[in-house]
Amino acid sequence: MAQTKLSKNTIKFRCFWKTTTIYEVLKGRQWLETESELDWDFFWSDVGWMYEFFDHIHLADHQRFNHFRNYYELTRKDFLIKNLKRMKKTLEKEDKLEEAANYNFFPQTYALPAEYGLFVEEFKKTPGVWIMKPVGKARGRGIFLFTRLNQISEWKKDHRWKSENPQVENYIVQKYIESPYLIGGKKFDLRIYVLVLSYAPLKAYLYRSGFARFTNAHFSMKKEDIANKLVHLTNFSIQKHAPSYNSKTGTKWPLHNLKMYMITKHGEAQVNELFHDIRSLILRSLLSVQNIIIQDKHCFELYGYDILVDKNLKPWLLEVNASPSLAADTPQDRDLKYGMLDDVLTLVDMERRLPTQTSLQVGGFDILVDQGATEGNSKAAPSPFTYLGCYNDRDKQLKQMVKAQIASA
Ligand code: ADP
Repeated sequence: MAQTKLSKNTIKFRCFWKTTTIYEVLKGRQWLETESELDWDFFWSDVGWMYEFFDHIHLADHQRFNHFRNYYELTRKDFLIKNLKRMKKTLEKEDKLEEAANYNFFPQTYALPAEYGLFVEEFKKTPGVWIMKPVGKARGRGIFLFTRLNQISEWKKDHRWKSENPQVENYIVQKYIESPYLIGGKKFDLRIYVLVLSYAPLKAYLYRSGFARFTNAHFSMKKEDIANKLVHLTNFSIQKHAPSYNSKTGTKWPLHNLKMYMITKHGEAQVNELFHDIRSLILRSLLSVQNIIIQDKHCFELYGYDILVDKNLKPWLLEVNASPSLAADTPQDRDLKYGMLDDVLTLVDMERRLPTQTSLQVGGFDILVDQGATEGNSKAAPSPFTYLGCYNDRDKQLKQMVKAQIASA
């Protein structure tokens, strides 16, 4: 089907969630709502629909859907780690040792039960605190910390845990980051939004705002606090049950406030460096799945990155969410999500209003990478990697890295 020019009041949208911000945003766009299984132009769905229908239908050129077919390669905890490790190994084999060494932004991790033997060997070398996370769950469910191997053997018994049992729940076991950056004695992690419009060529945007999710309880590595989720897990769904939780203020801080706080403590250069490192790790995570995720021009995806910063201002990638929560827990949260999702729709560009040339900035989104952009395209601004105004020499290295990746693809 030829590219159809769609005007705003002829675009038909379908939305799986009727109570979250995305539904409000779609309504606000004045597109036409439909419940039709196939007769839609834009569909914001859960991944379940895709499993059921995607392989059996033909989509017209202009139709857009909010997940890539094998999205889980980036977003399932064990697959993410497998892909990052594989990328590192490939780079080592190709003798690109410097770039391979940059894949040091995820904590040491093993998939269980498959890598139990390897994990035990490693545990003996680096004891301390480790964290167990079920790969198929979210919002902190099923997660626990441990310090002794026999705490896992108990758990193994409990779950009738045998690798040949198809019912077995897969976990990852990961080195716990024991010295997180603390503010007011409390731990937080960052939620950063990334929109991928295409994997081949890779084209992604990073949202300038985001937030830090704090714990309510003070951080402590004391033995008696190890099992306390209010101390160690920053998930909102856990923290909202804390006795000191205040529903008016919530547990989040806008990214901008966090950045300002850090700048007053450490100076702008160091904080820019941190955000540069965050940008680089996001880009590297996307490059690690670029050749694995099935490219499909109908698909785009909004990811929620969870990043922990340690006391040395090093960012660690904890996980990537394919369906980041779009529910709003405070008015401020709602404003952030509404604005971000509205910008997502502008970038997906059903109305075909964007110029054909790559836009470096659209609303709150800045370009992270556009492998399809020609040099001429990017002349309008200092670099297609500008983010949070911290364009510097290391961004140039990042650009070289992407070029090298394109060349070797
Ligand atoms: P979920 O999908 O259940 O949210 P996450 O991997 O995001 O699982 O972990 C939940 C929370 O646990 C994180 O937001 C973070 O606060 C904490 N956490 C997870 N892994 C680590 C780790 N390796 N070191 C320190 N804290 C961690």
